[in-house]
Amino acid sequence: MWFQPVVSTVTGQIIGAEALVRMRTPDGRILSPYHFIGAAEETGMIVQLGEHVLRSAIEHLIYWSGHLGYVSVNVSPRQLAEPDFVPMLAGVLTAYPQLDPSRLVLEITETAMLSSTVDVGERLATIKRLGVRIALDDFGTGYSSLTWLESVPADIVKLDRSFVAGLAVDQRKSSIIQAVLWLARSLGMSTIAEGVEEIDDWAALQAAGCPAVQGYFFSEPRPPEEFQEMLINRKCVTPLAQFT
Ligand code: C2E
Ligand code: CA
Ligand code: CA
Repeated sequence: MWFQPVVSTVTGQIIGAEALVRMRTPDGRILSPYHFIGAAEETGMIVQLGEHVLRSAIEHLIYWSGHLGYVSVNVSPRQLAEPDFVPMLAGVLTAYPQLDPSRLVLEITETAMLSSTVDVGERLATIKRLGVRIALDDFGTGYSSLTWLESVPADIVKLDRSFVAGLAVDQRKSSIIQAVLWLARSLGMSTIAEGVEEIDDWAALQAAGCPAVQGYFFSEPRPPEEFQEMLINRKCVTPLAQFT
């Protein structure tokens, strides 16, 4: 498990982290999930992988409790469609009674709703009753973002990086972002802008009132030891010093 910080635009502090899985090959190379999530889904191995990711993310969060607010975990459509997904989640939460479930966020994509035969809305409502929070990942890239927003009891909208890159110099992107921020706020959801790489885009997001951001500008995903060092030394917020 590697971790990428989510940073508050108000305080410049790390408020959470996204857990992003990696695979180490026998010759020591690190593979991105793009190389194996598809195969894990096709073979059904995503079920065991998903549980491993969930437990590992929770264990790290508990270990970093004094320093980190929450951790978010990606859940693929195939995982969510499994009849055992909710019982598995409930079982894992029971195994970690010291964890406040609202410190766990599940990131789901619109394809979960489109490709599934199960009632995803009902499943997500059950997950919310467990106290776990839900984030809509890659928001704005699908075909039915507004339906998604209306029908899913989400807490967080993650604005896809295609809207974020070059925002500072693109009035159309800026208008879209402002509209999504307004919509999310009116629905009682928080927004995280993904893929922030440039200081100008960061400044534009802060000016637009986007509460939180994530991206290479602050830090790439890092292995746990490096993430921990950043968390404790707060190294990744250094570039923001000029704004605070
Ligand atoms: P995602 O959930 O949209 O995750 C964000 C991806 O964008 C990550 O790629 C991250 O490294 C990358 N990223 C972050 N900041 C920036 C930036 O500023 N610029 C650019 N260009 N990219 C940035 P990663 O780690 O390779 O993950 C790829 C996808 O694999 C994820 O996309 C997610 O859909 C999936 N994935 C990752 N971990 C898991 C997992 O544990 N379970 C499942 N089911 N899927 C996972
Ligand atoms: Ca994600
Ligand atoms: Ca995303």
